[in-house]
Amino acid sequence: MNTEPAEYRKRLDIQLKKLKTDYIDFYHIHGLNWNVYQYKAEPKGYMDDLRKAKEEGLIRHLSFSCHDTPANIMKIIDTGEFESMLVQYNLLHRYNEAAIARAAEKGMGVAVMGPVGGGRITFLSQLKPREGRSLADLCLRFVFANPKVGAALSGMNTREMVEENVRIADHDQLLSPIEMEDIKAMLDQIKGLEDLYCTGCGYCMPCSSQVDIPTNLLLLNYIRIYGSQQNFKDGFIQLYHKRLVPDQEAAEFCIECGECLDKCPQKIEIPERMKDVAAELAKFK
Ligand code: SF4
Ligand code: SF4
Repeated sequence: MNTEPAEYRKRLDIQLKKLKTDYIDFYHIHGLNWNVYQYKAEPKGYMDDLRKAKEEGLIRHLSFSCHDTPANIMKIIDTGEFESMLVQYNLLHRYNEAAIARAAEKGMGVAVMGPVGGGRITFLSQLKPREGRSLADLCLRFVFANPKVGAALSGMNTREMVEENVRIADHDQLLSPIEMEDIKAMLDQIKGLEDLYCTGCGYCMPCSSQVDIPTNLLLLNYIRIYGSQQNFKDGFIQLYHKRLVPDQEAAEFCIECGECLDKCPQKIEIPERMKDVAAELAKFK
């Protein structure tokens, strides 16, 4: 939504012209987050334009893609404005599971991005696929094993990759018990991640000290997974110091009252983990 409201509708007309079509099936607002939705998309009239375009039949379904926290994704879902969404989900990034479930409950379609972690998840190389299958095959079938996921957007560089992905998506082959065991064993090997299985459900919130617990855990997970990759790390450090700290939502504001402990279905030692996040991120001030 970098275009001014007055120009927004004109842009849709140009898009339809360029695509040589009278309507678009799924029209995505990419990179939407809750702040943009509540302070810009609705009050500045962007959503009015989109609703009007839908009434006119130029758009069939409104969709959004999102990298916001699971709790904020759920707020966008609950507006009832969207019929599908695109969010990150894969073997290691499972924090959006609760948001995916909420979307499915509301009858929305769910597409996921990064189903094989963009090839960046080095931990996945610890998985040894069975029966001559590839790692991509295993990761994609993991994603499709979630009945709430309707489509997976996987990057493909070669014709062979396209053919393999089509073959995997075409077959209804669920993960075998032994493959599930392999995955569990891999997760168990990743020291420090097993105590961080935060689904982003938000049940621990609100925190009386305003700490955004799910986002802080998300950052700690990211740092642990992508720790050696500076370009990723820089983004997480910025998110912490430029958004969470000024808004007093950062882990360092946890006063260890323990009120959140009983609320977490995953039994995560939240105050301890908040100390870990604060210590990890303090190194990069
Ligand atoms: S222990 Fe920390 S994170 Fe949990 S409710 Fe208290 S201040 Fe918030
Ligand atoms: S309740 Fe537990 S699993 Fe849910 S968001 Fe909070 S820390 Fe994560």
